[in-house]
Amino acid sequence: MADYDYDLFVIGGGSGGVRAARMAASHGAKVGVAEEYRYGGTCVIRGCVPKKLFVYASHFHEDFEDAAGFGWQVDGAHFDWSTLIANKDREIARLSGIYENLLRNAGTEFFHSRAELRDPHRIHLVAEEREITAERILIAVGGWPSMPEIPGIAHAISSNEAFHLDSLPARMIVVGGGYIAVEFAGIFQGLGVATSLLYRGPEILRGFDQDVRTHLHTQMRKKGIDVRVNTNPASIEKTAGGFRVTMEDGSVTETDLVMYATGRSPKIDGLGLENAGVAVAKSGAIIVDDYSHTNVPSIWAIGDVTDRVNLTPVAIHEAMCFVATEFAGNPTTVDHALIPTAVFSQPPIGTCGMSEQEARAQYGDVDIYKSTFRPMKHTLSGRDEQSLMKLIVDPVSDKVLGCHIVGPDSGEMIQCLGVAIKMGASKAQFDATMAVHPTAAEELVTMREKWVPKAAE
Ligand code: NDP
Repeated sequence: MADYDYDLFVIGGGSGGVRAARMAASHGAKVGVAEEYRYGGTCVIRGCVPKKLFVYASHFHEDFEDAAGFGWQVDGAHFDWSTLIANKDREIARLSGIYENLLRNAGTEFFHSRAELRDPHRIHLVAEEREITAERILIAVGGWPSMPEIPGIAHAISSNEAFHLDSLPARMIVVGGGYIAVEFAGIFQGLGVATSLLYRGPEILRGFDQDVRTHLHTQMRKKGIDVRVNTNPASIEKTAGGFRVTMEDGSVTETDLVMYATGRSPKIDGLGLENAGVAVAKSGAIIVDDYSHTNVPSIWAIGDVTDRVNLTPVAIHEAMCFVATEFAGNPTTVDHALIPTAVFSQPPIGTCGMSEQEARAQYGDVDIYKSTFRPMKHTLSGRDEQSLMKLIVDPVSDKVLGCHIVGPDSGEMIQCLGVAIKMGASKAQFDATMAVHPTAAEELVTMREKWVPKAAE
């Protein structure tokens, strides 16, 4: 048998890569890891974690306003961007250090280096100026923002740079209608930036339940975000004071900053996949089977570089399945069904299972239960914000096929509901569950009347 330097070498020190490395080491494997930037990956360094901290920061603006209805006067509230950035950076550095400690304590050898494949078992560590060999190689290098090649696109930033702005602009355009675009539009508007969200299609959040899409759109507009659908920039020019964005329809908007959130692509450039013969899809995604195995027997890939479901907990699950299969003698396929997820828009979205549109396409007839209401807190705050709760039920089996929530704490609610939905809970079982009163979540177990479309709908 060939003698390798490592039983497993992981390229990429993000959530998926670090989990796989630690777990494989815990099964006695000799593991090496390479990360060219900072350990923690997209989620910790420039994604979920700093984004959520920004969401908290941006919401205080409304919290101070809402306090007045409860008798509080918060005078002279003032926001300082540089304090937020410094505190956020300190927390990210702490978390990145924790990731390194986890690798150290697990007994892995980790490198601050770019890694490039030379062949199916050989890797060049650029910063180390040496080559190593591994019996198995796991690619977990993640994704990177992608932007369309329109004139002046170099003037636009992505979410990467949004985490490090020197100062906040007065006006801003966010382009895109997906997770990142709606989250950042809410963040910047909440921090006092006059924000426009431009989306090329007829409604934001394509793929989500239609009611969720229109509901969030309406709530975002109420917060003052200038949401413009069927609108897409054709070019960006620098002006003396900012940028001039010319749309495809010829209209022009002047702004101080343009941020693109038009999707992310697998980060495979210069990885040397061709040297090892690893097959990729047209999108650049590494093609894998249900065990995250590529077409090359010694190479696997997990996380955003495979462009399956690009979420941190999914990458971690894929890592666990890989380790169970390869190092614990327990072949385990990845389960991508019924993933609960949250969008940290304002208000946030929690969703699990099928949209009404998907359910109708697959099941034909479905029962819909939905409720829109003013959250209790806003009876005194006076804020004009509505929550939405919606259940989609198969009338034959009574199974809950999908649950969609827009409103405060929906990300927390959907985690718990995800358990019930994953277990195959029926509407009758939802109804048999006692309500927790007074909460917003009680709506989910008290909706009894099937929603019937009005004649015009
Ligand atoms: P998404 O794929 O979610 O959205 C991309 C958006 O950009 C879509 O609205 C898309 O429009 C639009 N778009 C794509 N190409 C162009 C173009 N050439 N011109 C104009 N518009 C374009 O990507 P994001 O960047 O928002 O996020 C990447 C991924 O990161 C997400 O899919 C998600 O998996 C993950 N993520 C998860 C979060 C969470 O869990 N809370 C938070 C942030 C990210 P169209 O719909 O018409 O194609």
